[in-house]
Amino acid sequence: MMRQNELVERVAAYTADVDEMLLNRAYVYAMHKHRHQVRASGDPYFSHPLEVAAIVTDLKLDQDSVVAALLHDTIEDTDATRKEIDAMFGDNIGRLVDGLTKLKRIDLVSKKTRQGENLRRLLLAIADDVRVLLVKLADRLHNMRTLHFVPEEKRQRIAQETMDIYAPLAGRMGMQSLREELEELAFQALYPQGYSLIHEKLADLRKDSGDVIVEIEKTVVTSLADQNIEAQVISRNKRPYSIFRKMERNSISFEQLSDLIGFRVIVDEPEDCYTALGVVHRQWPAVPGRFKDYISTPKQNDYRSIHTTVVGPSYQRVEMQIRTHHMHQIAEHGIAAHALYKDGIFSPSDPGAMHSADSATNIDTESRSYSWLKRTVETLSDGEHPDDLIEHTRLELFHDQVFCFTPKGRLIALPQGATVIDFAYAVHTNVGNSCVGSRVNGRAVPVVTKLKNGDEVFVIRSENHVPPPAWENVAVTGKARAGIRRAAREARTQQFFDLGEKILVSTFQRAGHKFLHSQMENVLPKLARASVSDAIAAVGSGELLPEHVLTAVHPDYQKERSETNKPASGEGWFNLSGVANIMFRLPGRRRDKYAEATKKLTQAIPIRGAGGDTPVKIDPEFGAVPGDRIVGILKPGEGVTVYPIHAEALQQFEDDADNWIDLRWDIDTENPERFPAKLEITAINAPGTLAEIADIIGRANSNIANMFLSSPDSGLTKMELGIDVWDAKHLNRVIRDIRSLSVVTHVQRKT
Ligand code: MN
Repeated sequence: MMRQNELVERVAAYTADVDEMLLNRAYVYAMHKHRHQVRASGDPYFSHPLEVAAIVTDLKLDQDSVVAALLHDTIEDTDATRKEIDAMFGDNIGRLVDGLTKLKRIDLVSKKTRQGENLRRLLLAIADDVRVLLVKLADRLHNMRTLHFVPEEKRQRIAQETMDIYAPLAGRMGMQSLREELEELAFQALYPQGYSLIHEKLADLRKDSGDVIVEIEKTVVTSLADQNIEAQVISRNKRPYSIFRKMERNSISFEQLSDLIGFRVIVDEPEDCYTALGVVHRQWPAVPGRFKDYISTPKQNDYRSIHTTVVGPSYQRVEMQIRTHHMHQIAEHGIAAHALYKDGIFSPSDPGAMHSADSATNIDTESRSYSWLKRTVETLSDGEHPDDLIEHTRLELFHDQVFCFTPKGRLIALPQGATVIDFAYAVHTNVGNSCVGSRVNGRAVPVVTKLKNGDEVFVIRSENHVPPPAWENVAVTGKARAGIRRAAREARTQQFFDLGEKILVSTFQRAGHKFLHSQMENVLPKLARASVSDAIAAVGSGELLPEHVLTAVHPDYQKERSETNKPASGEGWFNLSGVANIMFRLPGRRRDKYAEATKKLTQAIPIRGAGGDTPVKIDPEFGAVPGDRIVGILKPGEGVTVYPIHAEALQQFEDDADNWIDLRWDIDTENPERFPAKLEITAINAPGTLAEIADIIGRANSNIANMFLSSPDSGLTKMELGIDVWDAKHLNRVIRDIRSLSVVTHVQRKT
């Protein structure tokens, strides 16, 4: 295991004023926290964060990143807390460690799913500092290097994840050598046979062409030395995975591959590159069409190099890449070599910028990191794949998005501010429509909860549920809003249909007929409706009169009706249909008797309440309570409004006999709903009167819904109170109680 001072030395090698104390503290802290844990290899667990820290020093990342690497598994795997780390190492480092802890969620999620692209985006969205990504890549690299200790199944998953997420990410960040190592390790784990086959063939090839390689090396080095140019000529081992991909992509065998021998010629100055090119081309014939000058025209990610292929000494193709040391650094280490050092953000000459606890500096560093990532992201697109370009523009939008998961690991991308409701609709419209509750990360939360990156959302569903219209204002996605609106409309149509059906059954029965859907088919044109259900719903919504349906189906009904339902002359202003009509015209006790006798005959539609499954409203002026005799008035587009049969308001509907619907209450004792009624009270105009009345209403377990006070006159106040009660009995009790107050001179129900 690397010793404390070794690590310090590694950092000191590229950091001017290394904070030894900080590094030592982190070393000891992580070692202590992980002291009881061992890795799959049998090594003490601490060897892992230490190796990750070492890789981070290879990338020459700043000191905070090295500390974060040492601590990266402490919050997740030990009793360490963010608070403790903030206190010991400052919140700058705390934030990095926290970011790394959060990224662990992705590992958990990817257990269940393979969505490389989405997960890579999530990763970028969660990591709010690019150093978090770099340490994460170092973490993954070490895990891949020690993958052979891990059980087979887990090994496959980790390797696949590396192939899908981390290797491409490293590539996008311009870190080619890191990407290549991750790819090779993953390839080896995923396709061990393919790997060893190609590996062996490459070894054979190297053995066979060993003399050639030495010859080419020697030729280039000496020829350049003649021109006073010092060159490093490195024979490039082709990587099994890149060979494998080439074979797959072009459907060719290993033997058909060309360019299996490759060299890198590394010189000091850009001019030397062209001199070297001249040397190579003079020595061996160039293969036409294989020459590329990325020095005069760099790739968009700043990759610079001269590529050429020549026919070598034994007539095999030899690929040459000619570049300077600086160009080589950028090609290999991308972000780390290029952006960090060139821009001096984490420059060794100015290490204070990263170590300072001064918050202004931190913010500056952070924002520069962002712009740096953004810029990197912009320049990463090398223009070879048009898809990349789109993806990179999208990356900039990631801060506007949240990425959440279904329990099965499906990733759902939503706009920032999205709620569980949006999530449910994004999964499926049916899920949204039936969403009644949710658990986020295992905890029960309201459906209006705003989601965060990485949340795992379980939607609790109930099939008989209709999304409340108010959700439309909570939802931020168009899909959810449209879904809520449509569901509400459908539910209303269904309610109108149910009510319409009841009305029609009742209307037909009264006329001595049976209501059958099949009979309606034939009269649809007459009713100007497209379908039976459409016609029935129109009856429920008051747009189509039940009598019209009846006369359409039974044209002879018109006559019977004019006989039996003729308005009684001189019998007051009511013109009621059916039983309610007759009942009203009968006085007092006879009316009750009649009602009882006709109860079995009456086809009145049961009303279970105003908030239930029927689109029923209660007369807003007078109210209606169970126990009242009631009638319904069909109003176009609104359905039925319930009136107590004694309500004066009914007068205005006198001329529309066909709009009257017989209703009866059907309230069971469990019904929690209260019903409105209006009281007219005259009371003494004195302080405390209103309070006394309010108090007695409250004591009677009623509730004041609204109130109107008329201007006091001769010491008396007239008031109109809207109250909510269970039923007529309850209402009478409330009236009796109010009457018992000495301040009240008169009380009665408003009719
Ligand atoms: Mn780790």
